[in-house]
Amino acid sequence: MGHGKHGRKATSKHDGWDVTPADALRVAPGFDLAGFDHASTPGWKHGRKAGEALVARHAAELSELQERLFAEGRSGGARSVLLVLQGMDTAGKGGIVRHVVGLVDPQGVAHRSFGVPTSEEARHHYLWRIRRALPRPGYIGVFDRSHYEDVLVVRVDELVPADVWEKRYDEINRFEERLVEAGTTVVKVALLVSPEEQKKRLLERLDRPDKYWKYNPGDVDSRLRWPAYQEAYQAVLDRTNTEVAPWYAVPADRKWFARLAVSELLLDALRRLDLGWPPADFDVDAERARLLAT
Ligand code: ADP
Repeated sequence: MGHGKHGRKATSKHDGWDVTPADALRVAPGFDLAGFDHASTPGWKHGRKAGEALVARHAAELSELQERLFAEGRSGGARSVLLVLQGMDTAGKGGIVRHVVGLVDPQGVAHRSFGVPTSEEARHHYLWRIRRALPRPGYIGVFDRSHYEDVLVVRVDELVPADVWEKRYDEINRFEERLVEAGTTVVKVALLVSPEEQKKRLLERLDRPDKYWKYNPGDVDSRLRWPAYQEAYQAVLDRTNTEVAPWYAVPADRKWFARLAVSELLLDALRRLDLGWPPADFDVDAERARLLAT
């Protein structure tokens, strides 16, 4: 990194990215899932080694900013971060949680995954379980699947009539707008794996006894509905890609890139909070004197 013909300037400006990771990955108007290259590495041309090195190099900063956020939350601050991970099975949501979110103190992370609603959840509005899982001030919330399932699997499997899910896009936008107003930075990541790569990853689960537990025969059924899922994802990216809570489209066929991308997006979100350390709410000198006297 930094030795190539174009490397030096780019490296100093955006840590090796052509443009900021947010600019490289942000879903732009007119985004077309059908033409998406799932193995591409938008904004990054230095390859895997350099990508992994950057994640490692940024880990300390990520961790410190998380601690500052946590400290702020302890001191009466209202801010938090919510990382929303959406993707088809095998897109690598779990790996992101392990390798990216795992870089920070687990104490400050509120991780929630959303499966088929429990009978209690099903008795409530679909946002009920989401609201209860939102990160408290100071926390980084991580949603492994989210309220978007209510316009993805629910739409594809026709779990509610079209006029019901149809209204949800606007409702989700309003919900997220209020969330952002209340102090939560929302980072929405669509982890986009190709059907070919998904097949490879599912086959691997069948080839390895240590992966059987991850295999779910239902995954094959969602593969059969791939085009319907594509359509549903496209609608999500078209209709809920707002200024306050934008979507990032992350190609997921190369795991190292997806991890690099998400760790950089998370770092960018934390940097933008411009986090300091909370001032002491006690007299530092008096406390030092008191302590020394013991
Ligand atoms: P994973 O398969 O990601 O390990 P789970 O098996 O716990 O996790 O649950 C994921 C499944 O739950 C997915 O098939 C997903 O489509 C389904 N799911 C999530 N949210 C909903 C929802 N609101 N309605 C119906 N199904 C849902």
